[in-house]
Order: sequence, then C-alpha cells, then structure tokens
Amino acid sequence: MSWHLHFLGTGAAHAVELGSSAAVLERDGEPLLLIDCGPDTLDRYLAAYGAPPRALYITHTHLDHVGGMERLFGRLWFDEALRGRTRLFAHAELLPWLQRRVADYPGVLAEGGVNFWEAFRLLPCSRGFWLDGLWFDVLPTRHHRPGTSFGVALEGSFVFTGDTRPIPEMLAERAAHGEVVAHDCGLHGNPSHAGIEDLEREYPAELRAQLLLYHYGSVADGAALAARGYRIAGPGQRVALPPPRPVRADAG
Ligand SMILES: [Zn+2]
Repeated sequence: MSWHLHFLGTGAAHAVELGSSAAVLERDGEPLLLIDCGPDTLDRYLAAYGAPPRALYITHTHLDHVGGMERLFGRLWFDEALRGRTRLFAHAELLPWLQRRVADYPGVLAEGGVNFWEAFRLLPCSRGFWLDGLWFDVLPTRHHRPGTSFGVALEGSFVFTGDTRPIPEMLAERAAHGEVVAHDCGLHGNPSHAGIEDLEREYPAELRAQLLLYHYGSVADGAALAARGYRIAGPGQRVALPPPRPVRADAG
C-alpha cells in the first residue's frame, strides 16, 4: 500500500502563482482526504481526480483556506449522488467562524430552499476523527487567536500543520515516529507564520530533518529555502509518506 501527500498549492495567501496551500492524502493513488479548500483548490482537485472530494478537513477559516467552499457547495448540491455525502471535518471551535465566513451568507441559492450545510456531511471534531478505519489526530496550532487553527496528523505517516508559528510542544508528540512534517514556513517569520529562522531556533535537528516546507511567499523564496538545505513542496508535487502505524489503543 502506498501513501502520498499531493500538494495542490503551496503558496502564502499573496503567492497566487503557487496556488492556495492545500494537500490531498492519497492511498494507493486514490484521494482519501483533502486538507483545506482555498479559492483555486477545487479546480486543481478536479483536474487531478475528475470528481469532487469525498472528505475534507479544514485547518482554519482564513479565506485562502476556505474561500473555495461556496463553489464546492454548488458542485455537491447539484449532483444528487454527491449531495450531503462529502464529510467535512473541522474542529468544533471553528464552527462559529465557518458559519460566519462561509455558511451564513443569505440566499446560498438564488431560488432558495436549501441550507448551506445540506450539501455536506459536517463532522465536528476535537481530539481527532476516524476516516476509513484510520484515526487522525487534530492538534492546536499558533495562528492568531488561540483556538482558531488546527493541524492534522496521521501517526507514523505525516503531520500537516496548517498556518502556524512554531509548535515544538505539539510536534514533540505528533512527529515522534518519523512522520513527514508538512510545515508552514516562509523565508521570514511574522506574527502569524513561521519563518525558517524560527524553525531553526525552536526545532531540534532531528525534527528539522523531517520538515517539508510549504506556504512560502514566492518561487524564489522556495528556492532560497531549498538552498538552505530544506525539503520544499511544490504545487502539483506528490511526496511519498511512510505508512501509518497501527491505530493506537487509546485512539478515538
Ligand atoms: Zn491563515
């Protein structure tokens, strides 16, 4: 069985040429879970797989991560085979923000008669969630207000941080088994995002060797990070992952 993380986009919010940061966990070449849904994510997903996602995890509600959800609503609602079937996992603390930012706008359809969430199968989570017999851990990250951003991890395989400042206390636990750590990282840090000097200061060498950097500011910034000795994810790239460990006894 093969496992890959397929990056649909790897850009910071302003780095349009790199696409909105989003990735798909693939098992044996088939999409299992889409992580985030920015303005261009659905187009990239459809180009890769020919059909909309069946499972989606949202890290946080900045528009470069949820700005494609209205289009996804339309794509799912108008296909009776898909309507209400795509599982949407989001930390329970994100629900008020998701409601305000994407679900509450009046007249989701001009003709009325439907509520936004009817197109999806919404599954609020907190510690993590089950999908297809696998347990995914959800981890709080540091991106603006506490309780508004959450990464996702599959033990033994990968951690996807979403937007974050360094989170050594979380990764000490969630990246302790050789996981690939897909990490927000620009050339320079700021109050919302990690920069490479932040990661070099806060992460031990062993963890830095697991990093796969994304959410950088430009192609040139990505090249500069690579020149510094780090692995960089590019838009459209599929990165092989180690297989997940057996689900631990206390999962769920
Ligand atoms: Zn963000």
